[in-house]
Formats: sequence, C-alpha cells, structure tokens
Amino acid sequence: MRTIARKNALTGGFTGRILKVDLSHNKIHQEALDESFYQTWLGGYGMGARILYDSMRPKTEPLCPENIVGFTTGILTGTFSPLGSSFTVVGKSPLTGTWGDSRAGGYFGAELKCASFDAIFFYGRSSKPAYLWVNDGKAEIEDASGIWGKDVVETESILKEQHDDNRIQVASIGPAGERLSLISCIVTDKGRVAGRSGLGAVMGSKNLKAVAVRGTGRIPIASQDKLIELRKRFIDLAKEEREFYWEYFAKYGTSGATAMLSTSGDSPCKNWTGTGSVDFPDAQKVSDDNVIKYMTRKYGCHGCPMPCGGYVKVESGPYVCEAMKPQYETLAAFGALLLNDNVEAIILINEICNKYGLDTISTGSAVAFAIECYLNGVITKEDTEGVELAWGDADSILKLTRMIAKREGFGAVLADGVRVAASKIGKGSEKFAVHVAGQELPMHDPKLTPTFGSAYTLDATPGRHTQGFGMYLDTLSGAKMPSFPEAKYDPTGKGAGIANMAYFNHVVNSLGVCQFPSNLCAIQGIPSLADFVNAATGWNTIMEELLTCGERVACMRQAFNVREGFKPADFRLPDRSIGKPPPTEGPLKGLTVEIDNWVKEYYRYADWDYETGKPSEKKMIRLGLADVATDLHKK
Ligand code: SF4
Repeated sequence: MRTIARKNALTGGFTGRILKVDLSHNKIHQEALDESFYQTWLGGYGMGARILYDSMRPKTEPLCPENIVGFTTGILTGTFSPLGSSFTVVGKSPLTGTWGDSRAGGYFGAELKCASFDAIFFYGRSSKPAYLWVNDGKAEIEDASGIWGKDVVETESILKEQHDDNRIQVASIGPAGERLSLISCIVTDKGRVAGRSGLGAVMGSKNLKAVAVRGTGRIPIASQDKLIELRKRFIDLAKEEREFYWEYFAKYGTSGATAMLSTSGDSPCKNWTGTGSVDFPDAQKVSDDNVIKYMTRKYGCHGCPMPCGGYVKVESGPYVCEAMKPQYETLAAFGALLLNDNVEAIILINEICNKYGLDTISTGSAVAFAIECYLNGVITKEDTEGVELAWGDADSILKLTRMIAKREGFGAVLADGVRVAASKIGKGSEKFAVHVAGQELPMHDPKLTPTFGSAYTLDATPGRHTQGFGMYLDTLSGAKMPSFPEAKYDPTGKGAGIANMAYFNHVVNSLGVCQFPSNLCAIQGIPSLADFVNAATGWNTIMEELLTCGERVACMRQAFNVREGFKPADFRLPDRSIGKPPPTEGPLKGLTVEIDNWVKEYYRYADWDYETGKPSEKKMIRLGLADVATDLHKK
C-alpha cells in the first residue's frame, strides 16, 4: 500500500487521509485530502456524497461491482466531544436505487481515525470472500473464507482471536448481507447497526464480509484542553436544562418512550391500519421498565455521557437469549406494528436480526405485510410453509423472521423488502406494502408529526426518520411549533423550519456525532456544535457557517438522486400513512395530512424545483457546486 502524508499542516479533527480499496484488483491506495475539503463537507456522509458523486457513473446497478460503499467518519468522531461516536456507511441503495446512507455508533469510527484514516471507500468486487484489515496506518485485503457464513457476533469474535487483539473494532455483514437481502445491514460491536438503505447487500455483492480496524494513535486535536472544558460545560448545562430528558434517556434509551409513543398515535399499529390506544392496549409490556428489567449491564458508544444502550438476558422460557437491548424502532416494528406485546420474543427477534444482519424496521414491516396478506387470503399456509400468521402471535412472527434471516422458503420472498415482495406476490398485495420508494416506513406516524412525513419523502434516503424531529422547529428557526392539533397541520411558512432542521441534521451526521445528545447543543447557552468543531480543528466557525455546509450536503445528496433520474413525484407516501381514509378512532381520529404541501414549502424555501427536484443553479453556485449545477442544468 502506498502511503502519503496529510496534505496540509496538521491542525486537528481529522487525519486528512482516506483509503480507496479496489477489491477487483486487490489494490489499496491512500489519498490525502485538503483541509478545505473538510471545511466544505465536514466528513461523514457529506464527504461520502461528494466522493461518490464524482466517482460513480449515473445509473450504476447497486449490486454491481461499479457501486461504491464507503465507511466515513466526521470531524468530531472519536474526539473528546461528548457526541462523537458515529460513522456513516454510504453507497447507492439497492433497496431504493437512490442515494443511501446509514449511521451507526459504537467504537468503529473512533478506532478507524486512531488508525490514521477518516474514511474507506470500496470499489469493484473481490473474486472470493474478503475482509479489510486496517492496523495503525496500514491496510491489507485478507481472505474471509473462514468467516463467510458466520453471523456478526461470530465474525467479530473470530477476527479478534485471529489477530490476537480484543480491542479490534469490526463492522461486518451477516448471512443476510451475504445472500444479498435488500433489507440487510452492517453491524458493529455485536449490535450497533447501520440499518437502513440495504447497504449490507452492497458489501455482500462485493464479497466483502467485514472491515476490522485497530488504531493506537491519537486523533489530532487543535485544543484538547478546550475540548475537555467544553465537554464538562455541555454535560453540566445539559443536565441542568433538560434534567428529565437526560436521566430518563440514560436510564431507558429510546425504549423508554415506547408506550407513550404507542398511546399518542406516533407508533404505527397493525401495519398502519390500527390505533395504538385501541388495538394495542398493552404497549406498556414492551416499554421502559419492562425492557430494562432484563438488562445485565449498560452500554454506551465512544465517549457518550448519556449511554442509552445495554445488554439484556432472557434466562428461561422459549425466548432464551443474551442480546443488545432493543431500541424504540425495533420495539415498535415488532410490537405495535404487529400487535405483539411479548417483550421476550422481541428481545430474541432483535438478536436474530442483529446476528444475521437485518434492518429491524424493514424486517418488522415485511412481517406485518405478510400477516395482512395472509389474513386477506392473498397468501396461504402453503405459501408460508405451514406457518399460520396472525396479529400478535409471537411464535409465528419469530418463525417468519428466522425464515427471512436465512432467506428460506417464504422468507426469501420477504427478504428484499415489501415492494419486491408485493411485486412477486401480486394479487393486489401492493396495498399492504407500506414503503416510500422501496424503503419501509419508520415507526413515526406523519399524521401525528407531519415533519416526519415530509422527511420521509424529501430526504435523499427515502423513509429517513432521523431528519424529521418536529422539536427542532422551535429551536433552530424561530418558527414556533404550534400546539397539537389545529395549527400544527398548517405547513404555511414552515419551509424555513423544515429546511433548517434538515441542514442541522446534515451537520450532525457529517460531523459524526450522535443525534440524541447533539439535540441538546441546539439549546441556547449550551456549547454549540460550532464550539466543539473549533476546539477540535482550530477553526473559527459559527453555526450559520456549519448550517451552510448542511445546506450544501443536502444539495449534493439531492444531486445524486436527480442525476439518477428521480423526481419528487417518485417519493410518495402510502395513503394509509397520511390518513386516506382518516382513522376512525383514537388520538388521530379524522386526521388526514397533505404531506405534499409540507414538501412544497421546503422546496420553495430551499430554492429547489418541485417538478424536477433540481436545486437552482444560482443556489448551487452560491454553495460552491458550479460543476454539479452544470451537470444538472446544462447537460
Ligand atoms: Fe450511542 Fe446512545 Fe450515546 Fe447515542 S446516546 S452515542 S446511540 S449510547
């Protein structure tokens, strides 16, 4: 492997080096990046979007060698900032055909930077199973035939043993990714998951089983003292300002909100046809104390001051297992969505999905789709190999999940998500397939929070729930979030709020920080993301500048999709998710939301064309994307 130095004088926050790995020709190349590249893109999926846009031909088949999959970190990943745990996997999504990215926490990102690299991009396809071994500034492509077929837990253990180092961090795919399941994911630390966009299948298509990293170096930091002082101030003030949020979150993680979100109408219920408060009265059984009572110890990602994770153990009965604690999305996807209140079964199902490398949101949605098909006579016991499907039947849900994970029998029909399954089954099953552009909808109902709905359709990765938190509308744009329900449903004038919320999230994801604690940085008086960036890099930036980076990242990801031929009309929410027809009972009774109107407000504010999806030429030039503007507007 050729090694080259960082291009600019060292300040901090990034190593300035990335790896490009050509699996077809067994070649690894190091590349140095300028500081200005980081000032423009911040790292993470911002960096990923620019590099993939430049390196990938339009209309590349997602499971062909020409697709590129990247593991990216951000400026704050692995630093003493209390937020920097994340890495983001990027690539063209085989599930949607659009831009794809997915974030995970854990320790992989920090380890990669300590090993002297900010990102790794994989090109081509290995002729045999392979993994990349990155060790303190060096990288080698290694034979993975001994771990091919193993689950992610076994894979991590074997690689640690093989390299005789328990501190190695591994990101790998399970058998689902190897078998090219379009809802497969990438797992690190045996249960931190880059779940969405089906990028596990892209790794599988490249015969790339895992990336294993070990780094003993220090990430360059401009002012470590300042970063430590900011961290302390952040923790003290955030605890003071949001005491309940902090303590509740650190105790339960997102599992603490499961019952409340089901009762309020946020959690979709019975494959988006039911009402939590009516159809799923025992949501409490899969929530907060009823989840953490299985916890044996806490888990936190790198440097996190409010660790939300944990290990759980079911000691007896049919669902015995030791696993990572399921978070809200999983508890809802295998709980309210299926009317299943058996928490022990959900813990085991979560473990199966993690081990095999399946996204739990998409897998739960695929099971919900199958149950509705079955109960409506579209499929029968013969199709499901004797498994009788019913709402709330934990055993049949578990069986079907196993079949999807192994791509066996009817599981093979569901293993590529509900859009593909409906196209295979036909017979009108499309109406039970709840997805946007192929990606199954997350566990937040747009009828309760329309900004989730707008994020599902306007983000470059359709069905993205982590961009749609309505709460940011208050803190970021000054556009007050009116109280539920009347004015909340009027999108007029909310384009600025939706856009700033999206830009803020692009900053968060590009910097490599976790959204949960970083929400608190938006509160007046608490150190901002700009403060942390300045301490890490020695820059002198302000939030407005970072939000401009977020705006640029939004345009770059959007440009990727426009170049692929996607238009806003291709991203439509299923009728049942927006209240067509409106619910007849519960807190969302009578509600229909016209999400298109919300999306139009965003497009107007962002200066994107609502027919073509193109950001205006003027805007792209202002953001330094003249070359991309030429591609989209002149070619
Ligand atoms: Fe990880 Fe949870 Fe902390 Fe985020 S809040 S960094 S997901 S432990």
